[in-house]
Amino acid sequence: MSLIYPQYRALKGSNTLYRIDGPLHFLEWQGLGENRWLAHAHYAEIYPTRVLLQELLEAKDSFEKLHAEEWNERFEKREANALSGSVSQVRVSSDSQRIRNSVDLTDWTTFGVPALAKKWMSATSDDEVRAALTYAEDQGLPLLIMGGGSNMLLHRDWPGLALHIGLKGFQVLRENGDEVDVVVGAGENWHDWVMVSLEMGWNGLENLALIPGNVGASPMQNIGAYGVEVKDRFLWLEAINIQTGALHRFDAAACEFDYRESIFKSAAKGHWVIVRVAFSLQRKAPLNTEYGSIQKELEGLPQETWTHRDVADAVMRIRSSKLPDPKELGNAGSFFKNPILSAADFAALRVQHPEVAHFVQGDGNIKIAAGWLIEHAGWKGKRRGTHGVHEKQALVLVHYGGASGKEIWKLAQDVMADVFEKFGVQLQTEVNQIGL
Ligand SMILES: Cc1cc2nc3c(=O)[nH]c(=O)nc-3n(C[C@H](O)[C@H](O)[C@H](O)COP(=O)(O)OP(=O)(O)OC[C@H]3O[C@@H](n4cnc5c(N)ncnc54)[C@H](O)[C@@H]3O)c2cc1C
Repeated sequence: MSLIYPQYRALKGSNTLYRIDGPLHFLEWQGLGENRWLAHAHYAEIYPTRVLLQELLEAKDSFEKLHAEEWNERFEKREANALSGSVSQVRVSSDSQRIRNSVDLTDWTTFGVPALAKKWMSATSDDEVRAALTYAEDQGLPLLIMGGGSNMLLHRDWPGLALHIGLKGFQVLRENGDEVDVVVGAGENWHDWVMVSLEMGWNGLENLALIPGNVGASPMQNIGAYGVEVKDRFLWLEAINIQTGALHRFDAAACEFDYRESIFKSAAKGHWVIVRVAFSLQRKAPLNTEYGSIQKELEGLPQETWTHRDVADAVMRIRSSKLPDPKELGNAGSFFKNPILSAADFAALRVQHPEVAHFVQGDGNIKIAAGWLIEHAGWKGKRRGTHGVHEKQALVLVHYGGASGKEIWKLAQDVMADVFEKFGVQLQTEVNQIGL
């Protein structure tokens, strides 16, 4: 099977070319002078753009269908330099030349466990993503999408194509007084993006500083820390369908965000490659200092002078003091989610363990600190030679060197079984188990 998108069209008798990337996305290039293009990216949500897209799809009247080769030939007659700032949407001459064989993934995940990928490629544009999807399909290779590798445990060699998402770039979509909407390439490093946003005075992501990984994975599990989640600043994301190649836009409702959850971890799991994410930020975003020890960290500064950057610095100091740096000690952050209990189940647990650490949720359910359960089951700091439970943070499993993914998984299972036996609470993993 080959991908349905993109499709190629031209306006008869003119220098205008079109590329349809999905049921609502198309790009239009108008020839300028002898050798330049003027590019417009369209999102056909409303009339009349929607009608135009329909006419393009049907290749009605003044439009003609072109094969990719024919279209490329016409396109390459001019410089393709009108696309700067378009967040890696298109790179016309994409191919599968950059696919490498037998790539060691050890350094591509923060756990640093050994595993080989049969094939590996880094995609830096939508077209390269599609080229990789077609290649995997043609070769019958299972696909593993990778960002920064900070939320996965590899259990074995990957028998297919490991596709690293490397689309870069930032683009301001809208600035309106206090508000600014920015779209960011999925391959940008998350923390670097937070720092860029703060430097530009686009605030709202400061509490999420120093979370490892890339922008594309941030909506996957609705990353969160210190009282803020990505969903609080999320506008939309664009993703390519793995079966059809169609580009699709998901707003927050369509992402079905929840605590460390989204549709991409449930109903839509394995169907989409996220290629860019748009955020809605504010110059005067309210400071969020309620959570954890942020206020304590800021004590030395007069409160009226606190800035968003101060909050980010406080968060970074707290995180550095509590969490192991993956560059020094392999880990994937919290291995387990904090379990959420109904009020009745919580009441039953509290009879036996009145001191259990917990947080009441807005909906009346109670979130239990998984770290507390693991610590009180006696696992904090336990080491099995090459790997263990972190000595400062019981939620984090660590790799000292020389362990396999399977061995770390065995430890995780033992922790889960013991917590269940002692507290009757079933822990769920936050980290994605690859090849289990
Ligand atoms: C020290 C440490 C601290 C951490 N602290 C936090 C924290 O405070 N809060 C928090 O929420 N998380 C935290 N994490 C977890 C991790 O940083 C986040 O989940 C992060 O978003 C993962 O990004 P990544 O690019 O590394 O994803 P990866 O590990 O590469 O991938 C994670 C999953 O997403 C899929 N995926 C990745 N990119 C794409 C894409 N573009 N399209 C489709 N699927 C994709 C992968 O297939 C995989 O299933 C921490 C991790 C570490 C190591």
